[in-house]
Amino acid sequence: MMSHEPPKLRFNSFKRQSSMIDPTDPEKKIVRELEIRRDPLLEHGVTIAPHLTDKVLFGETDQDLLHELVESSKQNCFMCPENVEQSTPCYPDSPMLPGGRIKFEEAFLFPNLFPLSKYHAVVRMTKDHYVSLRNQTTEIWSNSILASLQFIKWVNSIDPKSQLFTINSNFLPPAGASAVHPHLQILGGHKEDCALVDRLWKRSTQYYETNNQCYWLDLVSEEKQRKDRYLWDNNVDWLVPFAPLGINEVIGIFPMVRSFLELTETDVQSVAEGIKRVLHFYDQEGFSTYNLTIYSGPLSPPVKWFRCFVRIVSRQNVVKNYRNDIFFLQKLLGTEVLPISPEAVALKLREHNKHQKHDSI
Ligand SMILES: [Zn+2]
Repeated sequence: MMSHEPPKLRFNSFKRQSSMIDPTDPEKKIVRELEIRRDPLLEHGVTIAPHLTDKVLFGETDQDLLHELVESSKQNCFMCPENVEQSTPCYPDSPMLPGGRIKFEEAFLFPNLFPLSKYHAVVRMTKDHYVSLRNQTTEIWSNSILASLQFIKWVNSIDPKSQLFTINSNFLPPAGASAVHPHLQILGGHKEDCALVDRLWKRSTQYYETNNQCYWLDLVSEEKQRKDRYLWDNNVDWLVPFAPLGINEVIGIFPMVRSFLELTETDVQSVAEGIKRVLHFYDQEGFSTYNLTIYSGPLSPPVKWFRCFVRIVSRQNVVKNYRNDIFFLQKLLGTEVLPISPEAVALKLREHNKHQKHDSI
């Protein structure tokens, strides 16, 4: 019988049991089931521990505290409309960056005063100081991504050796954001400058050389056939990965786009619409923060072994004295822990998606 599994695309999973004597009854044994998985490409690990659903991992968002955080951070916000022009630096003036910045509707791009890479731009996404997950729109995201792409095109025109770019976002302090105002961060430089993307590229190249197929297209076709983690297709293929890097992780893969420079306006609309759907789902599930990254292959020339994709994870909620969701397991042992399986997340997300009104692309 022919296997559906393309060569080398391996979904490795290991079942383990952990047992102990019940504290309330010495005659009784407690047995906990665990599942350990490896990502088919990068081989990072995840431990699925369903018994954690009984433990409070994510406190319910404290709306009063969130309101206080929004109001107090508004006072001196450098991204709010009255401050952004005077408080932010600029790049050299050029036709692609008039005045050294990029304005795209409400999106406003400027250099990060405290860069973490050769190119590090910030995009203020909207004039509003705070936008809850429920109020995120396709428009906010598409304007911000389009501004980011214009910046990346500009860098490519002046410094074609800088080939590695990512578009990233932290939302609210429990997800690592130092500013409340919604913003993206574009990092750019050489391939050595981001170890994870360097590894993504190396592994994707190796996969292509071994199988003469693109890993990302094999992954989409495999997940489409298996159905249990595949979400929907809106010109971008959305799915919950087999071994996520974070809680409630969703990835969206552009089946035709190899580099940021190939993204069309329609592609941007599609990914923006998908991001909005995922963030609305997080809101419905009671989450209030996230991290997001959009990955690209080398900018030019585009490579056949990679496809652009976005990865979105939810993070700890805005709760007083919250327990950080990253501990030794993720930070030092390279393993994420999940209270529910990726398949269960996918099931909930598909259900949520059925009842939503979608923007036409
Ligand atoms: Zn602001």
